[in-house]
Formats: sequence, structure tokens, C-alpha cells
Amino acid sequence: MQNQQQFLIELNGNDEGPQALIVAGVHGDEYEPMIAVMELFQKLEGILAKGRVSLIACANETAYNAASRTGADGLDLARICPGAPAGTVSEVAAFDLSERIRNCSHLVDLHTGGALFDLFPLCGYLLHPDPQVLDAQRQMAAAFNFPLVWGTDAAPDGRTLSVARDAGVPAVYVEYGGGNSVQETIVDACVEGCLNVLDHLGMLTAGAREKKLSEVVYTVEDATPGGGFLQGKMVSASDGIFLPKVQVGALVEKGEEWGVIYDPLLRQQRSVTADSSGLVLFLRRHPRVHPGDSLGGILPVNK
Ligand SMILES: [Zn+2]
Repeated sequence: MQNQQQFLIELNGNDEGPQALIVAGVHGDEYEPMIAVMELFQKLEGILAKGRVSLIACANETAYNAASRTGADGLDLARICPGAPAGTVSEVAAFDLSERIRNCSHLVDLHTGGALFDLFPLCGYLLHPDPQVLDAQRQMAAAFNFPLVWGTDAAPDGRTLSVARDAGVPAVYVEYGGGNSVQETIVDACVEGCLNVLDHLGMLTAGAREKKLSEVVYTVEDATPGGGFLQGKMVSASDGIFLPKVQVGALVEKGEEWGVIYDPLLRQQRSVTADSSGLVLFLRRHPRVHPGDSLGGILPVNK
């Protein structure tokens, strides 16, 4: 069954089971997850035993058509959920998606850093007040098997995860990579991670998946308000061209060189230093920066 508006595909196993929803394209410039969802449709054929998997490859069509994070109305679908049925294009997309989230039993929302950022592979969730939902989310995030498992403040509204939170639906989101190219390793990792979660939920035929060792390196839970908000960290004070001097996934010390901003008009250059110690969680990939733009972010970690 295919719904043209959000390119929904539903696959059914023979037996009763969870109603999983896997979403890509909430942001229109995050491509690997869209391809991963298309590949999942093929990979699941013959191995889905229980329940239903609903796949949305492109949740915000006008954002995708504009190769942009935001829709044609300038709105970020990940900030306006649950949307409005008679609203602008992104509000309608948010409304349709929110309806589907309320009607699923488990949600996986796939992202990358878009054109601007490169992100360390992570599977995150909100620190849900209901211990059963929280536990289910922790297990899904660990099952996805990306190196960082990250629980953050449950308060933010407007997200797909906030709709899931309010409906008591266990939900995780995924971030990996980004920049101006499509990377097959990221597509494959997203496909594998989703299959891992579906297997964890008992939806796949026995023996369909090989048992794998955990690749989780860091597990971080931090309820600091706004702690999961990626765009707000390491803000540029200068205008110019950003040359990164660190790698995503590296461990940095506060004061270490993060990058250099070159201003060809004033013929000046300024070094930018790490504002704290920890893991390079995300790094700006888009070179042109203005004051106030994010240059990346650091996550305090313990192995
Ligand atoms: Zn995104």
C-alpha cells in the first residue's frame, strides 16, 4: 500500500506483532536515510515474520525538492509537530506524520547532519518519565548498535519524538554523517541498525540475522534542559571560511584547536578552540560561516 503524500509503504508479517514505523526525510537534505528506507523495503521481503513495518522514505516532500532542511514554507518539520491539518505544507506533513506516530507501537526516525554538519553515529531518545517506555527506548537504542547511545531531556516539543512521548510510544532517533555527498557506508549502517531494532522487537524470522557483538562505545544520559539541541553549540564569533582541525569522533581537550576561520576580505585569520573537553559529536562541514553559526559540538563522555 502506498500513500503518495509521504511515500508510505507497509509490510505485514504473517503473525501478530509490533507496528513499527521507520521514517526518513523529515529534513529534506538528509539523503542516506531516504535510500536506506528504500533498501529496507527490499531487505524485509521474506524475513518479516510478525507485525507490521511502515516505511516513510520522504516525510517532507517540499523540503526534499528544495534540497533543504526546511519545507517550501520555511518551516522545520522537526520543530512543528504535531502540525495542523489545514496548515502550510510542512504543517500538513507534520500532522500526517504525527497521526502515524500515534498509531504505531515503535518509532525510528532517521537523520544525518544535512548539508551543514557531519555527525558521530548516534541513536538517541528522550528521558521519558514512564520507566517502561524509557526502558524500551534504551533497549531499542542499544539494539540499533551505533557507537553512541544518548538519552536527553524529555521536555522539548515539536519533534517526532515529542509526539511519540505524549502518546507513550517508544521512540528513537538516529544521526550519522552529513555534508555534501552521499556515503554508502552510512546507508548500509542505517539499514543494518533498523534491521537490528526489528530483530530486537522479535519481528524477523528466526535466524534471519546473525548475532552481533555490541558496537556501543559510549552511553550518555543527561537531562540538562536543551542538552540534545545540536545546532546551538560552539558558535562562531567571526565571518569567513571555516577550516576544521578536528575529526568527528575524536576526543578533544578544552582549549585545543578546533579550526581556523579565514576572512579573505579583511585578510585575517582566527583560531577557534574547543569550549569544553569530550567527544567531537558534530562538526561543521559547510565552509562559509557568519557570526552566530554553529561550528560543531562536544559531548562530555566516559567510556
Ligand atoms: Zn535531521
